[in-house]
Order: sequence, then structure tokens, then C-alpha cells
Amino acid sequence: MSWQTFLYILPYLFSTLVTAGVGLYAWRYRSIHLVFPFLYIVALELVWTVGYVFQLISATLPGKLMWNDVQFLGAVFTPMAYFYFSMEYSRHRRHGQRKALLAVLLLGTVLLLLIWTDQFHHLFRSDPHVVPGDLFSALEFIDGPLFWLYPFFAYTLLLFATFMLLQDLVTAPQLYRAQIGTMLLGCMIPWATAVITMFKIVPVNLHDATPLAFGLSNLVIAWALFHYRLFDVAPVARDVLIENLADGIVVLDEQMRMVDYNPAAKRILNTSILKWTNRSLVQNYPFLLQLISSYRGREAPKDEVTIRVDNEPRRFEITATPLLDSFRAPRGWLFTFRDITEWKHIEEQLRDLAVTDPLTGLMNRRRFFELAEEEYHRAQREQRPLSLIMFDVDEFKQVNDRFGHQIGDQVLRGLVQQVRKSLRDSDIMARYGGEEFVILLPHMGIQQAGQIAERICRSLCQERLEAGPDQVRISISMGVSDLGGLVPDDQTLDRLLDNADQALYHAKKTGRNRVCVWTGEPFSVG
Ligand code: GH3
Ligand code: MG
Ligand code: MG
Repeated sequence: MSWQTFLYILPYLFSTLVTAGVGLYAWRYRSIHLVFPFLYIVALELVWTVGYVFQLISATLPGKLMWNDVQFLGAVFTPMAYFYFSMEYSRHRRHGQRKALLAVLLLGTVLLLLIWTDQFHHLFRSDPHVVPGDLFSALEFIDGPLFWLYPFFAYTLLLFATFMLLQDLVTAPQLYRAQIGTMLLGCMIPWATAVITMFKIVPVNLHDATPLAFGLSNLVIAWALFHYRLFDVAPVARDVLIENLADGIVVLDEQMRMVDYNPAAKRILNTSILKWTNRSLVQNYPFLLQLISSYRGREAPKDEVTIRVDNEPRRFEITATPLLDSFRAPRGWLFTFRDITEWKHIEEQLRDLAVTDPLTGLMNRRRFFELAEEEYHRAQREQRPLSLIMFDVDEFKQVNDRFGHQIGDQVLRGLVQQVRKSLRDSDIMARYGGEEFVILLPHMGIQQAGQIAERICRSLCQERLEAGPDQVRISISMGVSDLGGLVPDDQTLDRLLDNADQALYHAKKTGRNRVCVWTGEPFSVG
């Protein structure tokens, strides 16, 4: 081979080396989605280029025809590889993808077999012959009647591939567009070159410039794949993870314009406000802006809001995660909408359980002290009266002894129901211990409280309470106290309880089934 020949094929060698280098680099990442389809392109382009170069330097007609066949192996299958790559790359899976690929594969194989059997029918290459030249002898032939099939096949596939990428470019979220755009550019370089040389738009006298463009093209595609590093996120992980996530996800850019959202977000939020490049989300939900404004450069701000979904109010925990650039400044925001309605419900139930007495449904002693503390301070602040009744069932041991503990429980429940009838909504009744209860009466002085206690005491002892198949009459003893009966320096909730307790003790001591009030010292009423 003369050095001029070598110089001529040097650019092809260079392009081949670049393609092979890119291929080797990509091979290391072949397990990653999209890298393998890209490797098909690389491999087929290498076949094409090698076939072309050897066809060029072969001197004999059979040699040239053989290498031309190798070249066609690459030339037929490379557009198919691009088609496959674009399909795989498209964010949205297409229906009938496998069928389309199979059909294309079949057509390509038939086409290649037609080319490879050309010596028997010359439908592709009529009258092939070798024309001697300065550097190379050239393979020349007249296009056979079926030669048009090849460009038709190749350019149709490339048009589809380009169309899919273009469609992606238009519909994909901003985040992916740079990658898709670069990918598109890379894919178009060889075909633009092919079209330019085919129509002789640029007056170059190259035998075939397309293989020359492969190196650059593959560099650009590899750059798009590896630089943006989205290939492992998009589309597989994105499709599987984000699309199936129960949490709604919405991505907004810096100007609060819609960039992306998942199907869950579509279910939660009104679809009319989920418009790409639109600011309608924050216009409809201004709390998102407040949430963002509370970001202090550390953890993602959270908030709880109620959103109506299908006309039903639901509780959501919303997290605003900043999408930071390399200077750690937010370039966009990822909002997650987590439905916590059920959690809130359970939380409420747990809270209720923690403060409720399971037997009677009354609040328990713990909750009573919380509320009583509040009422006590309010009464002091507003200089309002506050009274307390404490009562205990008389001779309850006997009820248990006679009917058993379980029926004793039933009697206690009946008793609570009976007592509650005489109370206001604002009165606070609680189970204080075994069969001992307290009632806090806000805005009520000792006299009135004494009267209410009296009424409860009277009505209860006349009532028959269910005791399994039987009925039972019970009585209670009550002690009443109020803040007014305390010296100002000694006004505490404990003192109020203590006095009621002493009055109750007095009621027990003086015969039971009665009310005792504390006014400095206990005395009975009624
Ligand atoms: P008195 O108060 O009139 O002095 O007599 P008493 O028999 O009621 O005596 P006391 O109040 O000291 O006893 C409380 C009894 O109530 C003892 C216990 O077995 C019963 N008791 C306490 N809690 C429950 C309960 O949750 N269910 C039932 N069935 N019995 C209870
Ligand atoms: Mg008792
Ligand atoms: Mg007791």
C-alpha cells in the first residue's frame, strides 16, 4: 500500500478507532440500560467501515464484491440499530414495540439476502466492474431495478428513529431535554453526511463519507449517555419507581413552572393545574410557596395540609425537597404529597385510647388532670367560680360479691350513663379510680354544685340499673368543693380535690347515700 493510499484511508481509520474506543468504554457499562442498544450501533458501524475500507483497497472484482457485501451487512443493520435505540430510549414505551422490531428485522434480513445473492440475479448491482484509478481501483455498477429498496428501507427507519427522539424532545421534562437534544444531534450526524454526499449538496468527491462521520457521531452519543448520567435513571428507574410510587411527586423549576409529575400526583391534584411549563400549581396551592420560603439551606421543609380528593377531604404531608446545583442553590423543587389520612386517624385513635377509660368511656385520671389544670387557671384568670364533685359508689363490694365482677362492670357503666344525663357539655367527668368518679363544673359556685350533686344522688338511688338478667339499686356518696371555699394563698387544684375527698369521706362516715359540701369544713346537705 502506497503512503498516498494510506493517507487517503487515514481518516477512516481514525473514525474507526474513535468508534472502537467509544465502544470499548461503553462495553464496561453494558449492564446499564441503553448502553447495549448503543453497542449494536457501534458494532454495526465498525462492520460497515471495515467493509468499506477493504472494498476500497481490494484490487479484484470478486474481492471488492465480497467486501461490498460486508459493507452492506453494516449498512442494512445500522439504521435498524438506530431505530431500536430510539425506541428503547423513548421515555414512553410504545405499543407493539416487539412486533415492529421483529418485522423490521425480518425485512432487513430479506433485503440483505437479496443483496448477498445479487450475483445470481443482479437486481441490485447491474454490470459490476472495476475501474482502475490513481489511488484505488473503484467498484462501479449500475443500480439494479431493486437498488432503491435499500435507501428506502434505511431512510424510513432513520426517519422513524429521528421522529421518536424529536417527539421525546418536545414532550420530555426540561431535565431530560439537554440529553435528548444531544442524542438527536449525534444520531443525525451520519445521516446528514449521507444525504449531503448523496445529493452532492457539497461538491466533495468522496466515495462514501458516511463512515467518516461515525466516529464523531458516536462521540456525541456517548457524551449524551455518560455525561448526563441519566441513562440509569431514565427511563427504567423513573418508569418503575416514580410512576408506581403511591406518593404524589411534582417537580417545579426555579420559576415554579411545572416540569414533571407522576400518576399519583395526577390522582391527588386536579389535572387542570398539572400543565407543563405552567405556574398553576402554586397559584392554586399558595402554601407551596410558603413552604419553600421556610427553607433554610438544611432539611427539606414539611407541612400538613388537607386537599379534597374525589370530593373527600384527605390529609397530606408535603415535603419540598430543593434540587440543588453545584453551588448548592435550589434550581428547582421536588414536592412529595404523602397521604397520611389513615395515619392521622390511627394517631387520633391512639390518642383517644391513651386518655380514655376503656370500661366507662369516660376520660381517665391523666386526661382529667390535664383539663382540670386548664380550667383551674382559666377560673383564676377570669375570676370565675369553679366547683368539683367527687363521688364513690356505696357498698360496691357487695354488688360484686352478689353478681360477680363482670356484672359489677355493667352496673358501673349504667351508673355513668345515668349521671351524665344531669351534666352540661362543659362539665368534665372522669373516672378517678375503681368506682370513684370526679366531675369538674366550670363557672359554677358551691351552692349550685351542691344542688346538682343532690339531684344526681337522689335520682340515682331511685333508679334500677341493669345487672345481667337482674336489676339493682345502688347509691353513691358525694363530696363537693369549690375555689370560693379556699383562702387566696392556698388556692390549688390539689386543695380543691383534697377538700372534695374530705367531704366525700364525711358523707360516707355520716351514713352514705348523701352529699357533703366543703365550706371551710365538710357538712352535709339534704
Ligand atoms: P364504700 O365505698 O361504701 O365504703 O364501700 P365499697 O364496698 O364500695 O368499698 P370501696 O369503695 O373501698 O371498694 C371498691 C370496690 O369496688 C372494690 C372493688 O372490688 C370494686 N371495684 C373497683 N373497681 C371496679 C371495677 O372496675 N369493676 C368492678 N366490677 N368492681 C370494681
Ligand atoms: Mg365504694
Ligand atoms: Mg371506692
